[in-house]
Amino acid sequence: MRFASLGSGSRGNALLVEAGSTRILIDCGFGPRETLARLARLGVQAETLAGILITHEHSDHLSGALALARRHELRLWMTHGTRMACSDAGAPPARCELIDSHQSFEIGDLLVQPFPVPHDAREPVQFLLSDGARQLGVLTDLGCSTPHVEQVLDGCQALVLECNHDADMLRDGNYPRHLKQRIASRLGHLDNAAAAALLAVLDRRRLQHVIAAHLSQQNNTQRLARQALAAVLGCAEEWVGVADQEAGFDWRAIL
Ligand SMILES: [Zn+2]
Ligand SMILES: [Zn+2]
Repeated sequence: MRFASLGSGSRGNALLVEAGSTRILIDCGFGPRETLARLARLGVQAETLAGILITHEHSDHLSGALALARRHELRLWMTHGTRMACSDAGAPPARCELIDSHQSFEIGDLLVQPFPVPHDAREPVQFLLSDGARQLGVLTDLGCSTPHVEQVLDGCQALVLECNHDADMLRDGNYPRHLKQRIASRLGHLDNAAAAALLAVLDRRRLQHVIAAHLSQQNNTQRLARQALAAVLGCAEEWVGVADQEAGFDWRAIL
């Protein structure tokens, strides 16, 4: 099982996950041409994807997904609430399979377990992916952790974890007040300290990869995110990966 990022942050997110002969995207917040270029960087052609899992309707996750799915006849999976939000925005996906936010399902060799998260979207979920032996937890947009989130992510081998902002940088930065309040709210985004606190309550013994994701370019630095997670892991800062907005990150194998 392996995974890679096309890029992560408020200007677009997309994560590739592969198990056996099955390859999927989680979210696609880049335009179709940009997505193809970023896929090519990782040696992937869109036709080889089994489909796209959507976490929620915010444009940094959805904006390129519908066009990519249409153009390459890819399957799409999303919750009923996310589909309703697409319809409200005038872009109902043509072919879309509805998922239950508490019900696992299979896509080829991948087992997908969605789980609901507190975030200011209609019915947002995040995903735990497994090939039956290994587990990758993906958590890019949530305002605060919950016991259910912690239970789902406990003991996984790889974790892509939101480190959206540094609380002091957000507070002292020049975002408008309402935006600061939205980001810092319990339905907004995780700051570095909250991400570290979430990591601290998980069983970390099997972790092979920890990647900080969805970093704000205005209100965070890769150094601060790495420091926060490394302090919990007791590892060198460089061991913690970062999903960069432009570069994403290269394939990482889960052994
Ligand atoms: Zn969001
Ligand atoms: Zn987002």
